[in-house]
Amino acid sequence: MPLVELKNVKKSFRLGGEQVEILHGIDLVVEKGEFVAMMGPSGSGKSTTMNILGCLDKPTSGQYFLGGRDVSKLKSDQLAAIRNSTIGFVFQGFNLLQRTSAVENVELPMLYAGVHAKERRERAKEALVRMGLGERLYHEPSQLSGGQQQRVAIARGIVNHAPILMADEPTGNLDSKTSDEIMRLFQQLNREEGITIILVTHEPDVAAFAGRELLFRDGTILEDKINERQRT
Ligand code: ADP
Ligand code: MG
Repeated sequence: MPLVELKNVKKSFRLGGEQVEILHGIDLVVEKGEFVAMMGPSGSGKSTTMNILGCLDKPTSGQYFLGGRDVSKLKSDQLAAIRNSTIGFVFQGFNLLQRTSAVENVELPMLYAGVHAKERRERAKEALVRMGLGERLYHEPSQLSGGQQQRVAIARGIVNHAPILMADEPTGNLDSKTSDEIMRLFQQLNREEGITIILVTHEPDVAAFAGRELLFRDGTILEDKINERQRT
């Protein structure tokens, strides 16, 4: 059973009183342990697809099987419960709370999950240490570099031990050297901890760290290829 399976997923949005179809029947299977990069021009449907995969949005039609369960017609609160236990997120702009320490930022998803304060603090510290930020636990975002802020965001994304990590343009705000460092961290999480990673990027150099590349074009997947020479 695949971890993730989209079957003929279509998505329309209401634009100026009209339904406009954005995704035109996406079929996609991702197995546990894969590292997939979604590529393609701006407006090609990458984020819309990622939002559906991340249970942040639902298909207009078609099915989404997550761990074998059809989640495409669930109510929002059921979808949120599945999302919180299954998927971690990393965003381009880091989405960290300002004037809030790194460790408190990382604790947030556990707060929503109802984890006890002491365990929250321990797990948040552990995740930050794994991201190489053991010396920065009590720093606020403004005191950290862009790469360090993104590592805080990745720590927050993995702290619930979700089996899937999704990232939308996670290196979009970083210079290329820092971007490579961040991609090596994703690769390490994928290889050493078996976390399934699905990320969106514009940049071929970033996608080259993944094991598989999907090329989006106008709301369809034009190409789906194994990356024979994964960058390290
Ligand atoms: P990408 O991430 O590949 O740049 P998106 O998935 O964000 O592309 O967007 C694909 C298309 O869907 C774009 O034309 C965008 O304007 C449209 N779109 C995305 N989200 C919405 C929304 N919530 N309402 C209306 N249109 C949207
Ligand atoms: Mg996008």
